[in-house]
This record gives sequence, structure tokens and C-alpha cells, in this order.
Amino acid sequence: MRTKLVAANWKMNGSMDEVLSFVSAMQATDASAVDVLLCPPALFIPAAADAVTQHGIAMTIGAQDVGIAAQGAHTGEIGAEMLRLAGAYWTLVGHSERRLDQEETDDLIATKMAAAVRGELRPILCVGETLEQRQTGSERVVVARQLEAVLDRLDPAQLLTGAIAYEPVWAIGTGETATPAQAQEMHGFIREMIDGVDPEAARAMRIVYGGSVKPDNATALFAEADIDGALVGGASMRAESFAAIIAAAAAA
Ligand code: PEP
Repeated sequence: MRTKLVAANWKMNGSMDEVLSFVSAMQATDASAVDVLLCPPALFIPAAADAVTQHGIAMTIGAQDVGIAAQGAHTGEIGAEMLRLAGAYWTLVGHSERRLDQEETDDLIATKMAAAVRGELRPILCVGETLEQRQTGSERVVVARQLEAVLDRLDPAQLLTGAIAYEPVWAIGTGETATPAQAQEMHGFIREMIDGVDPEAARAMRIVYGGSVKPDNATALFAEADIDGALVGGASMRAESFAAIIAAAAAA
């Protein structure tokens, strides 16, 4: 039985006050049956981590990206060990916004995944196709290529502390969600790919869905056999809607 993971990705949004009041509001949520993660902008990680500890909340803090090196001449980067010292235990890697805005390649993302694993951060590898790729029927080819780049570098067992997030780019921040059947189809495909390398790891791997997850579509998504939680952007900015998604995961 895989414990559901519900992760909030605040992207480049929010202020220190908003992070602190969000964490405080999360005290009212029973998150004991689910793993809950908040990835605020990196600047707010230490304050968020302190607030979580202070309020005794069952929520961990994560980063939205990780540098390729532990330390050294890498201007502007933050390495895994530094993130851990700041209070982050997880990191997103290869979010589609970074693949697009920062032109992150599959190879760079695989290097970041290896850096996260080496630095004992739990990585969430984000994969997913664009609308054009789906319309031309190449979504499996794209996701397979993104996943293979990482599996060429790391064993599936090394990914088990983290998770894989299937995030169709056309569903992120658009209000358009993959149907539960579309999401399940891709999650099943990802699990099959891992099964081809390490069946035990495939059974244990958490594969979460991201793309306009909201309280009103979460239950149907979580009912699918291979959907092990959600990576939530917009709906994670309000404690009530994020709490409702956590409740849907706990009830699934
Ligand atoms: C995301 O940021 O990864 C995401 C899925 O955003 P949204 O929920 O807003 O689509």
C-alpha cells in the first residue's frame, strides 16, 4: 500500500507572511494518513520549516529546484546539502516551467536528480508532454524519453525516497485537467517502464498527478489505481483548498 503524497508548489508566489499564515492554518488539517509537502520559494524555506516545527504540523518542506553541485563556483545555485540545512527534505526536479523558462534538458535534469539523491534530498521528478505532443500522439514517447534519461543514471530503487510527478504541460495552471482515465493511462505506463527495470521498485514507487488539481476533481483522480497523490500549484495557495485535497487523498 503506497501512502498518498500531496505536495504544494507555490512557484514564484507568496510572501513570508503568506507562507507563515498558510502553515499556521494547516494546523487545523488532519494530515496523519497522507504525506504532505510544501515547496515555497527558496527564500522562505527556513521560516516555513521553523513554523512547521513550532506548530508540530505533519508537513515537510521542499525546494522547487536543486543545484547540480554540493558547493563551489556555481553562482546563483543552491545545492542539496544547503537546502537540507535550510530545512528542506524534498525537491522538485525538472518542473515543466523550468524545462521551458530555463531550457533545462533531460540530461541536466538527470544530473540534478543524481545531485539530489547524493545530497539526501527526496526528489520529485516531473515529466509530461505539451499539448502539441499530445495532439500528435507522441505523449508516451516524450514521457518515456524524460524518464529514461534519469533511469540511465539512477536505479529505480534510488528514486524511492522521492516520487515521480506526471504533469501534462497543457493541464498546468490552465484549469484544464487530464481526465482520471487519461492520467491513469500515463501513470500505468510509467509504472510499467519502471517494472521493466525493477518490479519491486515499480510496486513501491509513488506516481503523483499534477495539472489543475482542485478539491472538486481530486477524489476522482485519487480513485485511480496508479495515482498516488498530487502535485498542486494554484489550489495549494489557499489553505482551505489544499486541506480539501489532502482530505480527498486521506479518504481514497
Ligand atoms: C504545478 O505547479 O506543478 C501545477 C500542477 O500547477 P497547477 O495545479 O496550478 O496546474
